[in-house]
Amino acid sequence: MPLTHLKHFIHDVPDFPSPGILFRDITPLLLDPGAFSEVIRAFEEILEGRSVDAVAAIESRGFVLGAPLALALGCGFVPIRKAGKLPRETIAREYALEYGSNRLELHRDAILPGQKVLLLDDVLATGGTARAAIELIREVGGTLIGAAFLIELTFLEGRGQLGETAVHTLLRY
Ligand code: AMP
Repeated sequence: MPLTHLKHFIHDVPDFPSPGILFRDITPLLLDPGAFSEVIRAFEEILEGRSVDAVAAIESRGFVLGAPLALALGCGFVPIRKAGKLPRETIAREYALEYGSNRLELHRDAILPGQKVLLLDDVLATGGTARAAIELIREVGGTLIGAAFLIELTFLEGRGQLGETAVHTLLRY
């Protein structure tokens, strides 16, 4: 079923967090349990028939979508966090932003070699964040079965950053 009606729950905020950025705010969708559960069901359908050991999601809006999806799938949830937040031994990836850089971290023992992992985040923009997360999942030996996003900003061509990864997006702009 097309999900375009869910765009009604995504609010566009111009010039946030900086001038020239059109921020896609998902908080109205989170306020609506019908729309929120439709999103989780749509992600579940993408994975139908596939075995998944863990949903790995990117801080922090990825967590909001990733945790209910992991519970619905009956698999583990793995947080990929910003620098300095995870308490035990981590591996890290630094990646460039338009201005400056960012760093993502993963607990070294969060994913066992060979485990099947889905990467999840709210927005695929330039793809730099997702690419760094994929490198972390692979470094610990995880098998990436795909990457899923609620929103894809197609004009930024983020998919191109993700190589052969199967990319699934629910709402495209
Ligand atoms: P990127 O690395 O450029 O693909 O950026 C993806 C990350 O930045 C995701 O974690 C998003 O939550 C956030 N993001 C980037 N652009 C936007 C946007 N226009 N609206 C909301 N979030 C965004």
